[in-house]
Order: sequence, then structure tokens, then C-alpha cells
Amino acid sequence: MAAANGQRKLVLVVVDSLRADMLLKTVRAGEAPTFRKLIDRGELVADCVASFPSVTPVCTSEITTGERPDRHLIPGMNWYHRAERRYVEYGSSFEATRAFGLFRSLYDTVYNLNMGHLNFETPTLFERLADAGLRTACTPFLIYRGRTRHEVGLEGLLKAFASAARFHHAVWGPEELFYGELYSSRKVDCRPTLARPATRDAYSACVARDLVEHDLYDFLLFSLPDNDYYSHRDGPEGMRAAIALADDALAELVAAHGGTDRFLADNGVIVVADHAQSLVERRLDLQGTLGERWQVLRPNAELGPDDRLAVGPSGRAAGIWLLPDDGEERARLGAEVSGFLEHDVEGVDLLAWITPEGDERGRWAAVSGSGIELRFRPGAAVRDRRGRGWELDGDPAALSARVAGDAFVSDEYPDALARLWAALANPNAADILVSLAAGWECVDWGGADHLPGGSHGSLLAEDSLGALLTVGLDGERPAGREQWAISDVYGLVEGHFGLAN
Ligand SMILES: [Zn+2]
Repeated sequence: MAAANGQRKLVLVVVDSLRADMLLKTVRAGEAPTFRKLIDRGELVADCVASFPSVTPVCTSEITTGERPDRHLIPGMNWYHRAERRYVEYGSSFEATRAFGLFRSLYDTVYNLNMGHLNFETPTLFERLADAGLRTACTPFLIYRGRTRHEVGLEGLLKAFASAARFHHAVWGPEELFYGELYSSRKVDCRPTLARPATRDAYSACVARDLVEHDLYDFLLFSLPDNDYYSHRDGPEGMRAAIALADDALAELVAAHGGTDRFLADNGVIVVADHAQSLVERRLDLQGTLGERWQVLRPNAELGPDDRLAVGPSGRAAGIWLLPDDGEERARLGAEVSGFLEHDVEGVDLLAWITPEGDERGRWAAVSGSGIELRFRPGAAVRDRRGRGWELDGDPAALSARVAGDAFVSDEYPDALARLWAALANPNAADILVSLAAGWECVDWGGADHLPGGSHGSLLAEDSLGALLTVGLDGERPAGREQWAISDVYGLVEGHFGLAN
């Protein structure tokens, strides 16, 4: 069956935290037969670059809008909203959710993220494809904004919570929208399990089966989030069991189509990881450490005249907002905080900020690592692997980078300049961005961490390089590019449906 515009359909499978090396290990062990068939017939890119910070709200916004944080505006897992003078929390952990209040976190994660924070000028895939007359659908996914209105339709435990919180907002999503107990565009015989990890892949599969059987999509975003949960809990090596479970869910989708051949005849397929994960063994309580020297805004506290900093931990990255209104005071505070983090706080790898200096060609961004500083801004002196031009001032060793001719390459920090620039140019960005060293993780505002286990968020390759697999796509092929990024998925989808500009 063809899509509404005569093109073949497309399934975008987003596997949270999927690392290509672990995927291949699982396949070789014979534990992921469905992935194996897709890999055999498709093209696997092992090092597709995530956003910075490499955390799910930022990365899924990049996947669905094709834009980086400077355009889609989502800056992290936890961040300080300057206009609202409060923290935004997208559910770092159950403890963090509780620290900010269950209702507020629910509002931020479900409603505000999509309908408030995500830039309205960057259409999501659901909006782009609906505008082209295609039918869109998703299983529960953080970013769902689309063109079809959905009333909140609650079941179970969340119903009591949500009615107590007067959570009755309608949202705009794909034609077929499923978001656990909150939104469900059709009655399906599947048990929603939004709040319980390790059962969500099965729910996605159950919903997708119904969508296939009733022929309800041209574009389906098929979300498999459980791998993230297992990798956090057991470390990246624990990913194998989770990938096997994701394979079960994928197998159910394929079976609903009548097997691999039918599935691939009717559908182009993209499998993408939002980011990867690395092992963490040491914790950094950034808000506590900074709080010993400066007054740090507390969760849910009113912003007071003595508050100096807001701190947003995002896994293996963090943002620090300077709160004084006076510009000179802010600059002085920024220098003090940066100096302290660089010299006195173990676990900090990189600091990045926008400098006050600039000229008619714009301001400089700066990054410092191991006491070495590099300034950079868009220009023409060097090119990165994705073809973007940059002007440099300082030592590329700050990013363990080498410059050969006009090529700027850092294996340790993939696509470092463009990712840092996009993170810093986000109007919601912190004044100082922090990326942690290997093995370290920030404690969230609920006091939770994933030690010993897996985590992500940093600019380092081990958090940033995930799998990208394409099978039977119409349009551009992965071989056509030197370095792929998750923002490229948007163009692959447009290309498949013949919508590329
Ligand atoms: Zn995660």
C-alpha cells in the first residue's frame, strides 16, 4: 500500500541510547534477528552525531525539527527559564520530578515542551508531512507536535493526578497520537505504561500493530525508549538485553505487515539513536559545590535578590545561569565561577561561553579544556567535517582537534564547533555550558544519579555517536556524506517522500 501522495510509507524507529557497537554485538550473538535483517538490507552509519547536551529532550527536538538548539530552542534536561524566573524540568529522574512537583514536571514534559518551549518556527516532521497531505502517527515520544487537535483522554492512575492538577489541555499532534495514559487518538487494546520503564517498547509495538492493521499512517514514528533505562541501570554493556527486547518490538511491527519482505516493500525505514551512553562511576554535585560559594536558586523557590546562580544539571553536562541584573556584576561573577570550575572542581572537562568581544563579523564563542582556550565563530578559515566554515583564535588543542590544511577535525569531540555554537546561540542557553570528563555524571536536583551505570550528555564521542540505519529509502543515501548528524534525519524523511527543496 502506498502513502497518500503515491510514495512508499516510512517508519522512523528511534531507539533511545542505541550504540552501533552494542547493536552489532547483539546481532552477532543472534539476539536481534530483526535488526540483523534490516542491517543486511540497509546501510548502517555507526557514528551519527547527537546534539549537545546529548540528552533526550534536546536530541529528539533535533531529530523531529531537523534543527539544532539555536533554532529549536530546547537547551537541556533541566534549565532556567529567564522569562518565567524558574527551572524547567523534563523528568531527569523520579526524585527530580518530585523535587519540582509532579504536576509541574508533567506540565513541562508533556505540554510546555511541545506547545510552549519548542520553537513554533521550526516545523516538526509531523507538521511538515501533514502540510504535504500525508498521514502521520506516533507511539509515545517526547516530541509529538503536529496539526491535529487531541483532547486529553485519561485512564488509570494518571487520571486522578491530572484532574487534581486541572491538567485538561488539548494538544496538537500527529493524526494518530499515543502518549501513555494522557493522549490516545483511538481506543487500542494495549495497556498504557507511560510511568513504568521497561514496559514501554511493548506498548509501542502493541499500538503500532493496531495502526498497521487499520492502515492509519504514511509516516510512523516508532519509539523504543526502554534501551535508555537499561543502559542507565546496567551500564552500556547492559544494552544487549535491551536491544534484544527492542528487537522483539520491532519484530511485532514487521509481523503486523506480514513479514520482512512485505514490510520493506511498503516502507522505507530509518533507525536512529538520539544519543549514546558511556559508563559513569563518579558523581559531581554541581549545584551543591557552587552553592557553598554562591547562592544558587533552589527548585520551586521564588527568585530572590541574593540568588547569584541557577544550575541546570543535564546528565553529563550542565548549564549555569548568572542571575544578577547588572552587566558588570554578571561578567565578574562569570569569570569567578569559570575560574573556580576550571581549577577547583574535579570532573569538569570543558567550559563554553559566548564572549562579550566581537566586531562587525559577530561575537566569539569560547571553549576551554585542560587550561587551553579556543575562540571560534562562523567564518571561512577552516572547514569542519560537515562542511561548515569557522574562524579560529587560540589553540585547537582545547578540543583535542587538529587542523590540516583548512580541515578542522576532532575525533574526541565530534562536530564540536557547530554543536557548541548551536548550544550557545540558543536564546534559552545558560551563560556557561559545562561538559563533564569521562566517567562523571551530574547529580540531578532530586539528588539522583546513575552510578555505577550508564549516562550521557557530554560533548565527548562516547556520549555523542549513535547508530543510524537506513533501509530502502527513496532519496539521498548515507554514503553521500562524510559525517552524519541526527539533524539529517529530517532531510532523509523529506527526501523519501519527494519533498526535498
Ligand atoms: Zn538517558
